Amino acid sequence: MIKKGFTTRLVHADRHCNRPQDGAVHQPISNSVLFEYDDVADLVDVFQGKKVGHVYSRSSSSSNSALQNMIADLEDGLGALTFSTGMAAISATLLSLLKQGDHLIASQFLFGNTRSLVDTLQDLGIEISLVDVTDVQQVSEAIRSNTRMVYTETIANPVTQVADLSAIGKLCTEKGLLYLVDNTMTPSFIFDANKVAASLTVSSLTKYAAGHGHVLGGVVVDTGIYNWEQYPNISDLYKGQDTQQWGLTQIKKKGLRDMGATLAPQSAHAISIGLETLALRMQKSCENALRLATYLHGHDLVEKVYYPGLSDHPQHFLAREHFKGSYGAIFSIDLNPDVDGFAFLNALNLVLCATHLGDTRTLALPVAQTIFYENGQDARTKMGINDNMLRFSVGIEDIDDIVADFEQAFEQLN
Ligand SMILES: *Cc1c(COP(=O)(O)O)cnc(C)c1O
Repeated sequence: MIKKGFTTRLVHADRHCNRPQDGAVHQPISNSVLFEYDDVADLVDVFQGKKVGHVYSRSSSSSNSALQNMIADLEDGLGALTFSTGMAAISATLLSLLKQGDHLIASQFLFGNTRSLVDTLQDLGIEISLVDVTDVQQVSEAIRSNTRMVYTETIANPVTQVADLSAIGKLCTEKGLLYLVDNTMTPSFIFDANKVAASLTVSSLTKYAAGHGHVLGGVVVDTGIYNWEQYPNISDLYKGQDTQQWGLTQIKKKGLRDMGATLAPQSAHAISIGLETLALRMQKSCENALRLATYLHGHDLVEKVYYPGLSDHPQHFLAREHFKGSYGAIFSIDLNPDVDGFAFLNALNLVLCATHLGDTRTLALPVAQTIFYENGQDARTKMGINDNMLRFSVGIEDIDDIVADFEQAFEQLN
């Protein structure tokens, strides 16, 4: 059967994947924590994984299952697991699959909180190599006999380095390594994780997926590509007949059930509503970002623009290859050294000075003093973050209004 288009599938997903009662077009919000069984034998079978069902909503519920089905279908994945935040999905995945003495190769350009989590893993006895993922050679040279996993983001924040996603995927396939990709910046509308042979994707649903700055959530998706029989850390308890399910089963049991960062049913509902317009918002945000970045690229008061959509970006060709003609909606700039970045941000009226990204609204913030403050100067230098760097997450407003806001802010400085 030929799959329907991205948005068609999304707006009909609840009806088709989940078939709620009474012809409802949305999956109802299910608040029940417990689930009753008339026959205790059925309860036992569900507990033992012999029958599909729910026993306690920390592990599963119809609200979470509905969103998981929707996302797995959207990403052409084997299955998905939702969590209360993006960080919950990431930490659950890493802590369920890695053990003391394992080696993890991760991008040196990771999102700040993920980077901090990687330090925690190191404290727990997991060896870490942070490498420049724009260069597959660096990933290859970091491989050791105990390497289990390679972890990268698609487009890094704030400097927008694009990982050499296909080459790393090929390397991981050759070496039998698990390949974990954070695709928060490039949801499946513009990026196909299967094409780069990712094993698992993680993403923050808080960002583009939900999109309106009103709900937190995260997800891990198994693409179905990785052969879990080669992974040494799967507990015998979770080696069921279907070997494809081993990874998600272990993440579900250890990472979701035991660690407990479950997505609330109300949040699952809010995210599914946001998802319906993901393609429309993403398209508009990416178009707007290209327009705005191009305008700033030519501006006298701007020293440098970091955006993969510009032809002078070092990985412009990689971005073209992977993101279906889009380049994401995040970019950063270095203002001229004599321009006061804080004064500039304060002069913007329409653009919000706020953290967060992937929102309907255009957001701006100084990077070194906020989201990467805790990392310190050395780590920032390694990530390419300058003290006067400003980051923008471009929204869906009418682009002429955003450009006009930038113009009036520059005029105020002159
Ligand atoms: C925001 C973000 C996260 C964390 O997601 P939360 O939902 O805020 O916990 C992880 N990775 C990337 C790339 C992000 O931008």
